[in-house]
Amino acid sequence: MSLKVAIIGRPNVGKSTLFNRLVGKKLAIVDDQPGVTRDRRYGKARLGHMHFEVIDTAGLEEAFDDSIEGKMRQQSEMAFDECDLALFLVDARAGLTPLDNHFADWLRKRKKPVYVIANKHEGRDQDPGLYEAYGLGLGDVAPISAEHGLGMELLIDIMLPHWEEYRDKQRKARQQGDISAIDADFEDDDEDEDAAWQAEIAAATEGGGEKFPSFEISYDEEYEEDEGDEPTVFRDNSKIQLAIVGRPNVGKSTLLNQLLGENRVMTGPQAGLTRDAIAVDWSYEGRPIRLVDTAGMRRKKKIDDRVEKLSVGDTLRVIRYAQVVVIMLDATNTIDKQDLTIARMVLEEGRALIIAVNKWDSVVDKAGVMQALRDKLDSSFAQARGIPILTFSALTGRGTDRLMPTVLDIYDIWSRRIPTSQLNRWLEAITERHLPPVISGRRIRLRYMTQAKSRPPSFFINCSKAAELPESYTRYLINGLRDDFDMPGVPIRIFLRSSD
Ligand code: GDP
Ligand code: GDP
Repeated sequence: MSLKVAIIGRPNVGKSTLFNRLVGKKLAIVDDQPGVTRDRRYGKARLGHMHFEVIDTAGLEEAFDDSIEGKMRQQSEMAFDECDLALFLVDARAGLTPLDNHFADWLRKRKKPVYVIANKHEGRDQDPGLYEAYGLGLGDVAPISAEHGLGMELLIDIMLPHWEEYRDKQRKARQQGDISAIDADFEDDDEDEDAAWQAEIAAATEGGGEKFPSFEISYDEEYEEDEGDEPTVFRDNSKIQLAIVGRPNVGKSTLLNQLLGENRVMTGPQAGLTRDAIAVDWSYEGRPIRLVDTAGMRRKKKIDDRVEKLSVGDTLRVIRYAQVVVIMLDATNTIDKQDLTIARMVLEEGRALIIAVNKWDSVVDKAGVMQALRDKLDSSFAQARGIPILTFSALTGRGTDRLMPTVLDIYDIWSRRIPTSQLNRWLEAITERHLPPVISGRRIRLRYMTQAKSRPPSFFINCSKAAELPESYTRYLINGLRDDFDMPGVPIRIFLRSSD
């Protein structure tokens, strides 16, 4: 009589894995022996403060041979008839199969609430099944990873209204002494705890109320990004990946509250980018933004951050996930070696960089501080002259409205593509302005140029005696490209190719 949730879906989508995750025990058998017909399994599950019964319908693979539809229907129908709501699992990685569609057709005809869950989504935006799942006509899709415990907050959102309805019925049954309706297993949740949960969920889904949702983000301790995983995991052309890094106490949290406080469309937080990074998706003037940050955004971790240092490993990981990196400085503390090291890492990783100087309200000699910083950056990073420097006060909000436009600008520069014809006209002109050196009696010739890729802007130049071309000449070319094509502040790369 408890609240009953059925997990439905074709074989191998991860039903047993989700069942295990919810029940918290290895009750269901993952990867059962073929040929052994498994029954439906029941387990008592907990999610947040809710408790309910889950029904796992794994075991449909045995029905594959002859009357697949019949058997499937039998098993699923029994589970479905019993349940209050169903989680319909599909495989986000593998994409949909005809069997998924068959299930969907069948479920669509039922009256019970059905929620589409795209499982095995471990942060890869391009998982095909995730998008296909929207086409099933069963409403919104919740991406999760049952194996790694990601997206459980979405399941909480799904479950909550059903739980509340069930809980209210139970309370009423008890009040009225309606024995036939009382569920012996029902545990009433503490009102305060309940209110706290609701506040957190509201904060997580709307970005309102609390600063940051204090969701304990769950992940398997053992779960690490695969070594071979490309940062493309978080690359999505339509979305800007932004990281805001900086030493403790420079005002990162204050800034994020400023940014997100005004942007009520925030969704998330999304767990599981890595063990130490979390992301918040929101949008700025219609542009989707994914804010990637280290554990700095998590309050719990912050308390432990007694050491005035950032871990290089964490920072590097965040930089790799990001496309645009904002390094925040404290104006009263100026730039130090560690900040310069991080800036160097950002440029070496080929990311776009913005320097943001916070606490500008407490600076007296504003011109002096600015000049010193500009000089320091230009001398330290000649290869990325013109890195944007912003000054603001996250506390008062003064000047912070310039951050996002700067992010969009530099992202566009970083993504710029220059037509080959323009590049070759430019190459001819710039090599005439300042001729390449003569090596053992013959002048090096730069013959042809094309843009190899953007993000960051990278160019191939076909060149005689490429190995002999001095560094200083390459720098001259890079600076020329930066000035002539207006690409300040982003790393520019040139690859020389010899044809002889
Ligand atoms: P069922 O047949 O639907 O019950 O699926 P299982 O739970 O037996 O899972 C099938 C396979 O998918 C197993 O190898 C699981 O380890 C794997 N799997 C389940 N959930 C996830 C997930 O979230 N991510 C990944 N990468 N694999 C998963
Ligand atoms: P985080 O560790 O980088 O997240 O830094 P916090 O956002 O927690 O800020 C550290 C301290 O600096 C807090 O006491 C903030 O109130 C203060 N702070 C943040 N921004 C400003 C600012 O613009 N001006 C001044 N004067 N103080 C600020």
